[in-house]
Amino acid sequence: MASKPRERAKLVVPGDELGVIEEFFPGENVYEKEGVLYAQCVGYASPNLRSKTVSVKPALGTPKYPREGDIVYGQVMDITDKVATIRIFGLGKKILSGIFTGTLHVSEVSKNYTESVLDAFRPGDIVRARVINVKNRVCQLSTVGKELGAVYALCTKCGGELVLKGRNLVCKVCKNVERRKFAEDYGGARI
Ligand SMILES: [Zn+2]
Repeated sequence: MASKPRERAKLVVPGDELGVIEEFFPGENVYEKEGVLYAQCVGYASPNLRSKTVSVKPALGTPKYPREGDIVYGQVMDITDKVATIRIFGLGKKILSGIFTGTLHVSEVSKNYTESVLDAFRPGDIVRARVINVKNRVCQLSTVGKELGAVYALCTKCGGELVLKGRNLVCKVCKNVERRKFAEDYGGARI
């Protein structure tokens, strides 16, 4: 549970764990729940080791729009067998100026045959994907490639965090084993 203080500012999204109350005081845009500190907004987390405070500087930046070839981050909203709808919030290391919608077709999940998108993703998953086409602000996405797929996911049974164990994702809390198409750096990726 104890996470090491991080020296460099990291891009975080609301709900990202920033540390525990034993190491840091909650600073600006940080809240504490049951002893754990979480980011309250999208921005850069900067722990101050001297004052033992961690705060999040909101990300502003110039307007950015996803384009073909870009790597984006998003959260899975709806899923059918054929397609997942993804709310895109991040473009590479930058935060987008608005919310964009992405669609991920079952044929673009993996280089291996995937019968249903539900075998690869679940609502709430945070995924890293490549934009393969943009039409009317809707991005067609692909998660084909080792570096693409879920980077963070929760257990569908109890909501616990899924952690990588061998080649499986296992719930920290109830030990349920779940299937995902996950990125090779699953769990270690900071967005
Ligand atoms: Zn669970």
